[in-house]
Amino acid sequence: QVSDTLAKEGPSSPSYDWFQTDSLVTIVIYTKQKDINLDSVIVDHQDDSFRAETIIKDYSYIIHMGLSHEIQEDFSVRVVENVGKIEIVLKKKENTSWKRLGHPLENHNLLIPKKDTGLYYRKCQLISKEGVTHDTKLFCLMLPPSTHLQVPVGQHVYLKLTITGTEIVKPYTPVSDFLLSEFKEPVLLNNKYIYFLIKIYPAGLFTPELDHLHIGDFVSVSNPEGNFKISQFRELEDLFLLAAGTGFTPMVKILNYALTNIPGLRKVKLMFFNKTEDDIIWRSQLEKLAFKDKRFDVEFVLSAPTSEWNGKRGYISPALLSQFLKRSLDNSRVLICICGPTPFTEQGIRLLHDLNFSKDEIHSFTA
Ligand code: FAD
Ligand code: NAD
Repeated sequence: QVSDTLAKEGPSSPSYDWFQTDSLVTIVIYTKQKDINLDSVIVDHQDDSFRAETIIKDYSYIIHMGLSHEIQEDFSVRVVENVGKIEIVLKKKENTSWKRLGHPLENHNLLIPKKDTGLYYRKCQLISKEGVTHDTKLFCLMLPPSTHLQVPVGQHVYLKLTITGTEIVKPYTPVSDFLLSEFKEPVLLNNKYIYFLIKIYPAGLFTPELDHLHIGDFVSVSNPEGNFKISQFRELEDLFLLAAGTGFTPMVKILNYALTNIPGLRKVKLMFFNKTEDDIIWRSQLEKLAFKDKRFDVEFVLSAPTSEWNGKRGYISPALLSQFLKRSLDNSRVLICICGPTPFTEQGIRLLHDLNFSKDEIHSFTA
């Protein structure tokens, strides 16, 4: 049954059905929505529980069951976008006929506000760890074969570790590898790897523990969260990115998406604030991209440079922003994304309002 009150407030309620062949069981979710894609559904089979969470606007539609028979580890997920249908194809362990799909577990067949679903985790294996700057590393985690999960552009996940008996959870924003042309990882298991750029704080609670993990160890990864929407890119002409330190991480996928998927895009400019030259993440990759793609420019601003630095200096300021935020046409459609330490982001938003940019033209990344 679907909760009537919630269904009335939110989108019209999805439903599901299932059918089988000798070797396969297909679960079909009818979302009754058009803008559904492979990012919209997260599927896990772990500890005898099968769970599929479909994100529909600010709601989640959950299938959660104990299956009646055993299935193989891997499964496939397909989306028929124009009719909003999701198909999850499970492989039976034995070719017997199933009389029923299984028994319902918590929240099964319910449409509930996304904020009420709680964080759902699966254990991911550390595959590699590579230094990027003196204190920032690129971590590669592998999803289990029994999970389908893609982190949408502009969203983050929570990583969880048990540290001296206590569960510690912190948010991190996955990056894509598009800036790393020399990338060596196997591309065999598409979408199975999640990459993170993480700064290790020696006195921090979580990051030193993460840094101490060995290849093959496990970290729990949550479902994606965040309020950035791809629709903010609609008909965009100028994209400005203001990043400070690891506040660069959400900009990586945004940059990739914008340069590949926004047809009318004229200009993408990144202003990247760091303390010193040594702190700049992927500097040469960004410079190469600016050389290769004429729509993209990058400017580095340092708050604690050496005397040799002849680029821009200081914290975010009216002078830096007014010079940087030039529209390519008088009335071009712009979006400004901002992310970094809280005082940086707050100060940046104030300055952007002073420069007469509207709320809709600014997206700030926060927890
Ligand atoms: P903490 O224990 O939080 O300490 C951090 C630093 O502050 C240390 O130097 C510590 O000594 C100091 N400190 C702690 N408490 C105090 C205090 N009371 N007074 C003064 N100093 C103090 N980070 C990334 O590297 N990559 C990402 O992709 C990323 N994505 C994020 C996404 C979101 C949505 C958010 C909100 C944050 C993100 N972060 C990211 C930051 C990340 O979540 C952690 O905050 C960061 O890794 C620090 O965690 P920690 O437990 O190691 O350090
Ligand atoms: P950092 O200390 O190396 O500082 C980088 C730059 O930020 C500085 O050079 C300066 O230009 C600016 N800055 C720092 N303090 C400032 C202040 N008080 N006022 C104005 N500008 C200031 O940065 P870091 O250690 O890499 O920290 C990155 C921050 O970004 C963390 O706080 C992290 O939580 C945050 N972050 C947030 C998200 C998100 O919300 N989605 C994602 C990634 C990182």
